[in-house]
Amino acid sequence: MRLLLVEDDRLLAEGLASQLEKAGFSVDVTRTAKEATTLGAQEDYKASVLDLGLPDGNGLDVLRKWRTNKVTFPVLILTARGDWQDKVNGLKAGADDYLAKPFQTEELIARLNAIMRRKEGRVHSSVKAGRFELDENRQCLKVDDGTEYSLTGTEFRLLRCLMGRPGHIFSKEQLMEQLYNLNESPNENIIEAYIRRLRKLIGPETIATRRGQGYLFNDAL
Ligand code: CA
Repeated sequence: MRLLLVEDDRLLAEGLASQLEKAGFSVDVTRTAKEATTLGAQEDYKASVLDLGLPDGNGLDVLRKWRTNKVTFPVLILTARGDWQDKVNGLKAGADDYLAKPFQTEELIARLNAIMRRKEGRVHSSVKAGRFELDENRQCLKVDDGTEYSLTGTEFRLLRCLMGRPGHIFSKEQLMEQLYNLNESPNENIIEAYIRRLRKLIGPETIATRRGQGYLFNDAL
């Protein structure tokens, strides 16, 4: 799950990015309104955390531009404590939620997962497909026979993507986009390595290969 973090406070951004990565996101960080506007329109993000006070402009203008350009990923804005006007303006401009600084990272992650669930039309904090259930809060995979596996960040992100749309074929490029941020440029073979690892856990047929096209999660087994 790709996420765009727009925050000009370097310390806050670095700390937050590493926590978000632990929670299963692959994060791009930018500190300017200009770059945020471009990245949001170009890349396939699942959500964004948007600070309002940026060195070259206001986060609200970024949000308005995104929404005008049909960028629909859910956005959580970061506001100054007690500034109710910011919250109202943010929601009016198309934000899905807000959080006042300072905040607990745990709350931020819970809110992000909640707005992404709403966007996908889900009520529960888990993704179910076939005999399997992916628990977002604990980053683990449950099988219907009671077995539970804890997953690494990358394994979780990969399964989250595949199980989110069972039967849909994802190309290697699409999977890479959701797994890695712009600064990482791993070889595409790494996807194959992770698929092999996941197949050891959930059975070789559960993730099917479509030669020349990509992979799909088979929920009919
Ligand atoms: Ca700021």
